[in-house]
Formats: sequence, structure tokens, C-alpha cells
Amino acid sequence: MKVPFINLAAQYDSIAAELDEAVGGVLASGMYVQGEEVERFEDEFADYMGVSHAVACSSGTSALKLALLAAGINRGDEVLTAANSFIATAGAIIHAGGVPVFADVDPATSNMDPSLIEKALTERTKAIIAVHLYGLPMDMDPLIEIAKDRGIALIEDAAQAHGAEYKGSKVGSIGLAGCFSFYPTKNLGACGEGGAVVTRSAEMAHRLRLLRDHGSESKYIHSLLGYNDRMAAIQAAVLRVKLKHLDAWVERRRGHAALYGDLLADAPVELPREMPYARAAYHLYVIRSVVRDKLAEHLKSMQVGVGLHYPVPLHLQPALAHLGYKKGDFPVSERLASELLSLPMYPELTRDEMKYVCKAVSEGLGGSDPVHGREAEDGVGLR
Ligand SMILES: *Cc1c(COP(=O)(O)O)cnc(C)c1O
Repeated sequence: MKVPFINLAAQYDSIAAELDEAVGGVLASGMYVQGEEVERFEDEFADYMGVSHAVACSSGTSALKLALLAAGINRGDEVLTAANSFIATAGAIIHAGGVPVFADVDPATSNMDPSLIEKALTERTKAIIAVHLYGLPMDMDPLIEIAKDRGIALIEDAAQAHGAEYKGSKVGSIGLAGCFSFYPTKNLGACGEGGAVVTRSAEMAHRLRLLRDHGSESKYIHSLLGYNDRMAAIQAAVLRVKLKHLDAWVERRRGHAALYGDLLADAPVELPREMPYARAAYHLYVIRSVVRDKLAEHLKSMQVGVGLHYPVPLHLQPALAHLGYKKGDFPVSERLASELLSLPMYPELTRDEMKYVCKAVSEGLGGSDPVHGREAEDGVGLR
């Protein structure tokens, strides 16, 4: 058997007729950038999210940048975020003129540890980006309180968390702005690049629309200097089709996570946990093992696709060296980076494929000392 890490062609096969018709409609319309198709998608996505505004754009990275700019980030303002995230979270802060400041994560959630946030804040902190990594919702209540007390903007990076919920609300709908990516592999993926910012604030939405399209109030009248971060109409058409399936797909991901949990219950690995406040969307299913590299090699040799999200935490990325962080600054993120391993996770995965993956995991761990996490080794458990 062979189990790829992701299989986008299988998703296409499951809805090919719908997608072909939607894309064909755009081709025939002659309207290829923004326009009615994009407006319809914005309305439908805002409805799905339970908010009043969705502003479509060209990628998740541009969504984050536009949200920071619309929230008033100025040159030199500090923006706090998690040390364990995709590079785009930090890149967008810098592109908006800000300075990324990192906080370590909680090993139980893989998300920013709320108890470490206060001491990472300074006079210059103007925003916090909460990342719902892997589709696991971050604990938002402590953040909401801090943001309110300090008068700083709370922005959500929900690029991996379409359909996830925190205490009954969709993640992305909780802060001042929620940023989504529609990169093809995401829970809701375009057939190309795409992104969106959702917000309850009409003022934010207005600024986002200006920034997205060269600051155009009306044709060729530019009230501010913006960007070309518009969405292609074909992507909106694809997303409108796929949005109708999103809840069912998230449900399948949740079922897969439950099955992985059962099949790996006795394996000497750490499994992702769903916190009491969370309904996770399982964009990724990330396990942890002290013998990660050996396990990954074994899985590859058994034709099981695996991923690392992410092997180098943000504070140690070469591109961010100028920020002045060093090894040892965020010990949990650094340890997770060496232990995490993403298993295949997508709606179309079958029960037999997951059984095969778990058999391969058990075999791969067979020769190793069955320690659970690192407790037995150095007494400093990850949990
Ligand atoms: C994918 C992703 C982004 C960036 O989205 P793009 O559409 O690739 O620009 C940002 N943050 C996180 C956590 C992501 O996973």
C-alpha cells in the first residue's frame, strides 16, 4: 500500500462536475479578477463565519499583512505571535512594517502559551496574532482580556483552522480580524492562491478593501497607497463550490483524528489533544516522538507520506536572524520542532489507509525505547 501525505486529485474527483461547471462559467463570463463571483464568495464566507464582512484577497500572507495595516500597525510597532508557526505569520508582520516578537507555546496545545504573553508585551506592542496551528483552536479568552486591557488589536491567523470552533464560535470570528488562506492544501483550498480577512467592523472592512486594491475609492481615484492583493474570479468560483462541502470535510477530518487516536492509543507517542473549549478542524494530525527522525524514515520506507510542521521555529529561521533571538529562547518550541511529525490527513483518506499508517508507526517505534515523551529521560515532561 502507498498513502500520500495529501491527495488533492482525490478531492477534485469527488466534486469534478460541480467544479468544472463553476470554472467554465467564469471563463465564459470574461470577468477574471474580483467582480461578482468574488463578491458572492465574500457574502457566503461571511455567512459561514457568522460575521458581517469578508474581504477576499490573493493569499493568506496578504490577508495577514492587510489586517495588520488596516488595524493601524506603523513602522516599528511590535506584534506578538507564536514561535511555532509558518514563516508567513512573521513575514506578514515585517511586510506591514512591524517587528515580530515571539512567545513560546504550550506543549499540550502546540499554540501560544497564554501564561507567557503578559511578560512578552512592551509599550510598543500594538497587536497580537493568535495562530490556531494545525486547526487546533488557541485559548482566546485570556487574549481577549489582555487585548482589551491594553487597547491592542487581536488578530487571528486561522489559515489552518477553517471550520474550527472556540467555545461555539468559529475561530477567525473572535478577534478584530480573522485571516484565512485558501492555498490548495488548506481545509478550504482554491485551485491556486487565495485568502480572506473576516471582521465584524465595517470600518476595518472598508480599509481592507482599499488596501487590497491600490487604495481605490472609485476608478483611478486613490485615497491611499495600497497593494494589488486582489482575488482571481476562478478561485472564488472554486471556493464557492468547496465551501458547501467544508462542514462535511471537517467532520471527516474529525472522524479520522478519532480513529488515529484509537489506533495509536498504546503507541509510545504524544497525540494531539482537543481542549474542552475547542472543536478542532484537524488541518494537520501532528504526533510527537523523541525518535522522530527514525520514525519518519521508517514511514517513508513504507510509502507513507509525512510532513514536518515545522522543523525550525520562527525565532531560529535564518531570514529572521536580524531579530536577535538565539537557541534556548523558546525551549518548548525548539523541543517540539525536533519531535513533531505530521501524518497523512485529508477527508478522502480511507480507514484501511489509516490502519496501514498506524501499523507503520507502531513498527517504526518497535525498536525504540518505549518512553512516553521525555519524562523518563530527563524528568522534564512535555505535559
Ligand atoms: C498557509 C499559512 C499562511 C499563509 O497562507 P498563504 O495562502 O500560503 O499565503 C499563514 N499562516 C499559517 C499558519 C499558514 O498555515
